Amino acid sequence: MEVKLLCYTPEPEKVVAAAARLCYSSQSGAAIIEGFSEGKAEEFIGKLISLGHFSPFEHASFTFAIDGVSRALSHQLVRHRIASYSQKSQRYVKESGFSYVIPQSIAERPQQEAEFIRLMDQIKQAYNELVAAGIPAEDARYLLPNATETNLVVTMNARALLNFFQQRCCKRAQREIRELAWMMLQQVRQVAPMMFANAGPTCLTQGICFEGSMSCRPDKVQVVARSYFNGESKNEKS
Ligand SMILES: Cc1cc2nc3c(=O)[nH]c(=O)nc-3n(C[C@H](O)[C@H](O)[C@H](O)COP(=O)(O)OP(=O)(O)OC[C@H]3O[C@@H](n4cnc5c(N)ncnc54)[C@H](O)[C@@H]3O)c2cc1C
Repeated sequence: MEVKLLCYTPEPEKVVAAAARLCYSSQSGAAIIEGFSEGKAEEFIGKLISLGHFSPFEHASFTFAIDGVSRALSHQLVRHRIASYSQKSQRYVKESGFSYVIPQSIAERPQQEAEFIRLMDQIKQAYNELVAAGIPAEDARYLLPNATETNLVVTMNARALLNFFQQRCCKRAQREIRELAWMMLQQVRQVAPMMFANAGPTCLTQGICFEGSMSCRPDKVQVVARSYFNGESKNEKS
């Protein structure tokens, strides 16, 4: 897997902080950003995070090239709707010699890995036979496995990224997408350290886990019981 932050909103934290400041100012957005120092931006970002006021984070976008991940991962990734995606087409790009991802649990068991590779070779051969027989690539691809490698370009704004990191940096997320999420987080932290300082699973960021019986940290599990009928809300630690 390769992940590269291709581009992002210039001075993302300044833009977000200035947008937030605008809500409480009679000045124009342009005037506010002109007079904004780094220190002031930091102070504002900190305030937004502490208040849970994340809509200004939507003004900063980040675009990644993601190569060599499985179609299983890309299916999970595109469930994150607040994002823009471009993905290598299996209709227009023939998969005659497709590469594939071998999950670690299989790769560390030689017998199972050999069987996995044998099947991949068999699928490759069947795919190529279909294409050679004149079947369009768009139909021959129905043979291809979830393991088939794919490439994407993905753009997410900072708010959507925080949600993505919360869900996919968590140990409950599958290993491949978890590795991707941590790589993306590492890269955005380099360019927007304040905004992403506290990004990640809630056990790390809030000391709470919402995964219930599936949690890897039972000591952090928080059960939120609510009665929508009487308007009461109760937090219980279990
Ligand atoms: C560990 C794990 C296991 C999973 N297992 C399954 C599974 O078994 N089956 C399955 O189908 N999915 C599964 N998912 C996918 C999950 O249900 C979400 O679809 C996915 O993680 C995207 O999350 P999201 O909707 O918050 O993100 P986004 O689509 O990026 O949305 C971001 C936020 O915007 C808001 N939003 C977006 N669209 C709407 C809308 N239409 N209406 C109202 N609010 C909206 C919500 O607040 C949402 O949290 C799993 C995810 C994880 C992390």
